[in-house]
Amino acid sequence: MLTYESDAGLEGGIPDGVVFPQTTADVAQFVAWANQNHIPLVARGAGTGTTGGAVAHQGGLIVEFSHMNRILELDEEERIAFVEPGVVKLCLG
Ligand SMILES: Cc1cc2nc3c(=O)[nH]c(=O)nc-3n(C[C@H](O)[C@H](O)[C@H](O)COP(=O)(O)OP(=O)(O)OC[C@H]3O[C@@H](n4cnc5c(N)ncnc54)[C@H](O)[C@@H]3O)c2cc1C
Repeated sequence: MLTYESDAGLEGGIPDGVVFPQTTADVAQFVAWANQNHIPLVARGAGTGTTGGAVAHQGGLIVEFSHMNRILELDEEERIAFVEPGVVKLCLG
């Protein structure tokens, strides 16, 4: 859990657990289960945010999106990409 106790900011908080969804259906299942059991969820991408947004300050589960990193559709002409939430973008220059 220590790996997920902070993002790139100063805030800290140890989660009760971390889940790694692979599909949209997995996410829906976690959300429904957490809602039923009154367990807070915190979404996490790469954890590079500097405001503590991806930190479970009061416990609960981190939903870590690194395994959902597929580019679903790329329309080069319209310059639109449909991606899963764990896709990392890199802007140079
Ligand atoms: C050295 C450094 C330099 C930086 N430079 C810049 C810069 O030049 N410009 C800039 O804009 N930013 C910059 N940042 C900030 C950082 O890169 C951005 O905040 C980054 O885009 C966050 O992405 P992440 O995937 O790491 O999000 P995380 O830190 O994991 O999460 C950020 C927030 O988004 C929420 N979240 C994450 N995934 C989801 C999801 N799938 N659904 C719903 N909510 C979600 C989290 O709960 C959290 O509140 C910098 C950070 C560092 C450490």
